[in-house]
Amino acid sequence: MKGVIEMASAVKRDGRAVVTTCGGCYADCAFAARVEDGRVVAELPVVGHPCAARALCARGRHRLAMPFDERDRIVHPMRRRRDGSGFDAITLDEAFAQIAERLLGIVDGHGPRALGMTLGVPSFDRYWAYRFMHALGSPNVYGADGACEVSRLTGWEHSLGYSPASDLAHTDCIMYLGRSIVDSSTMGAVDALNDARRRGAKIIVVDPRRSGSAALADRWLRVRPGCDLALLLGIAHVLIAEDLYDHEFVARYTTGFDELAQAARPWTPEWAESMCDVPAAEIVATARDLAAAAPAAVVDAGFHGGIGIAYANSTQTARAICLVDVLLGCIGHAGGALNPPTPLVLGDLDPARFATPPVPRGTKLGSQRYPLVDPERGLCTTIGQSILAGDLRGLIVYASNPGAGYGNAGAWLSILEQLDLLVTVDIRWSETARVSDFVLPDVTYLEADRGVGTVVGANDARVFYRNAVLPVQHDDTRPGREIFAGLAQACGVGEYFQFASDDLAAAQVAPFGIDLDELKERGWADTGMALPSRTGEPAIPLDGGKIALASDVWERAGLGRVPGWIAPMVEPSPGMFRLISGNRPFESHTSRRLAAAGAAEVGSDLDAVQMNADVAARMGIVDGEVVELVSDMGRDRVRVETTPYLHPACIFTSAAPGGRSSGADTGGAQALGVGPLDHTPLRWDPLTGAALTQENAVRVEKITEREDNNE
Ligand code: SF4
Repeated sequence: MKGVIEMASAVKRDGRAVVTTCGGCYADCAFAARVEDGRVVAELPVVGHPCAARALCARGRHRLAMPFDERDRIVHPMRRRRDGSGFDAITLDEAFAQIAERLLGIVDGHGPRALGMTLGVPSFDRYWAYRFMHALGSPNVYGADGACEVSRLTGWEHSLGYSPASDLAHTDCIMYLGRSIVDSSTMGAVDALNDARRRGAKIIVVDPRRSGSAALADRWLRVRPGCDLALLLGIAHVLIAEDLYDHEFVARYTTGFDELAQAARPWTPEWAESMCDVPAAEIVATARDLAAAAPAAVVDAGFHGGIGIAYANSTQTARAICLVDVLLGCIGHAGGALNPPTPLVLGDLDPARFATPPVPRGTKLGSQRYPLVDPERGLCTTIGQSILAGDLRGLIVYASNPGAGYGNAGAWLSILEQLDLLVTVDIRWSETARVSDFVLPDVTYLEADRGVGTVVGANDARVFYRNAVLPVQHDDTRPGREIFAGLAQACGVGEYFQFASDDLAAAQVAPFGIDLDELKERGWADTGMALPSRTGEPAIPLDGGKIALASDVWERAGLGRVPGWIAPMVEPSPGMFRLISGNRPFESHTSRRLAAAGAAEVGSDLDAVQMNADVAARMGIVDGEVVELVSDMGRDRVRVETTPYLHPACIFTSAAPGGRSSGADTGGAQALGVGPLDHTPLRWDPLTGAALTQENAVRVEKITEREDNNE
């Protein structure tokens, strides 16, 4: 071990196992951690923990080695040379002082709203990040929705008032669109899906590729990419035409049914088949299966996947999912779409004891461009527009990577270079870090306490604590909280950071009578809150309390009063393919290196794209052959895996950032395969600001010279 900045819980406890959670994603899977022979060993399950899991997923397992992985690790504060030729290490105090001078210069010249911060996953010390921006007077803190699921969320929020969770534990029939529970790496969700199968629930998966979930489904509908909307309209048509919809629900909780029924007449299964390539008979059978199980049946509200932000019709697709669920009468019903959970509100620092900055007035910069989107959301994609408009001059990137994850990498990197100041706080050298003015070294999730988390279950609400497992491994690295407190001090607003992380954690759990030391020792505690059931009278938090099946809101937005057909923005011409991406169980959100390790474990690799076997055969392409993917965005050499389990209109690549987005000249471990956005032009959805990640078209060219295929 090198220097120890903050004594970690594991050390305090004399090497005994400490209960903590995985920092790989929001699932926060719990494990008891021990350090043995310089390795972190995880023991599972932690019985009773609200995030108990029987095992870590591949991503979580590989992350246990993160603190010891030196590749691309940022270990010192770095300042970019004026001539752009590289970086020099500086001290933390120098970094804080020089960054503060430039932040304050921007505030003086352009006002605090010219500063922004974007947060990724995982950015553990968000509390400090928000507080720092508020102390400087800026409301501009952005999250990942614009690059993740803002279209889907917006579609639901103006149709039902919220995006509902599916009651998988009690459903008799569930349909997923472009979302693969099995590949999303959350072991608890995979178990729940398998439990549903064992109970006899019917699982239907709609996906252009046979995903991990499709492989275990009762029915896999191989939809044409970008055309899920047509499938949903076809199902709605059958439910109405065959009188399979829930008359009572429609009468009590909706308006506009007659107008909808009129509009739905042309959405016949045959029409839907012509648009989405799912056979009409399958569409009819799916509608009947859902109706037979209703109201314990649901079309899942979705996640990132194929409908979150991928297409210009993603918002309309979410509207259509809501429509089908309404026709099934499953809103607020056991086995259907659950009412929203009761929020668990944690306590906060007492402002009488700890100086607290006021929350800046006004909405976040960029939110005015998308009035349908909740302005609190803070769309990360609007950062690019605000930079181009000259409104945003200084940006802090905390555990995020706009230079690769918010859209086309080349386009985003050139936008970021227009900033007066770009600061990245991260663990490794990302694309964004490489073009930053300053880079500040964060610690891995095992090297610092990460505070209190919450879980609201079906019947209870529990809190948990994310204990540190290791001391800090590199002298100059710091948890985000120390970085923001140091910057605040240098900016002259240090009075807002005169508290320890334990002060905050104790204040957060105090309303529930929970002792912080006991919480840390056990790892979790019950708040004792009694929660109302999430089934019963359906929650419809909309004006008038009814669901408008024919809606003025959507008509004004240009999507029509009822959710009719809208084509994707880009339709690949004959001979072209759509480049789609997705997760496999070994994928990682952040790094192809971690994903590659997981892939190797299961005998696969990321350095290839998948192509429909029949199409490949017609083009004379054999499995394993190296081809070129070509578009207006560039040309990539890549190996092809042929498969019968993929729609012929698309090429599939891993969702993990990598490929060209990592910069071929870096030669880094992430430069594998073809990045999911390498052939997608930078566009923003005019309605929601979404990144439109699959609005693209690529050509596959054979490389005929034999030597090229001997690579
Ligand atoms: S699902 Fe995987 S990455 Fe996410 S917290 Fe659990 S083990 Fe970690």
